Amino acid sequence: MARWITWTTQEDRRGWACSACSWEYPVPSLLNDPEAKSAYDRLAHAKFAQHDCASYAKKQDPSQDEAFSDRVRKLIARGYKPKDAVDLILQEVQLEYRNQPKAVEKARAEAEEFLRNLRQGRI
Ligand SMILES: [Zn+2]
Repeated sequence: MARWITWTTQEDRRGWACSACSWEYPVPSLLNDPEAKSAYDRLAHAKFAQHDCASYAKKQDPSQDEAFSDRVRKLIARGYKPKDAVDLILQEVQLEYRNQPKAVEKARAEAEEFLRNLRQGRI
């Protein structure tokens, strides 16, 4: 099953989470330094890659096929530049769906559309 790392905000908890299981990597609440933040993000992505979904409870309501643009928007909301956010999600999709070229193609098309809309000020 495809999984991806997603940003989650739940009441008092914020952090990275898995789309498929209950794995979470909460952000320390007093993390304001940009360098510390990016170190945290890198660590979270590494931990995410290592975790085994089978060892965690399944998500009760798996957000399957979360729209590409929603994933990009979450990153932009975190302060990523739109272009960087699109690149990052595209990379993740290529990993998630490495055996499904059609899904990668679809994501690529959505990425282009997103950037086109952005350039034309429609987002
Ligand atoms: Zn997982």
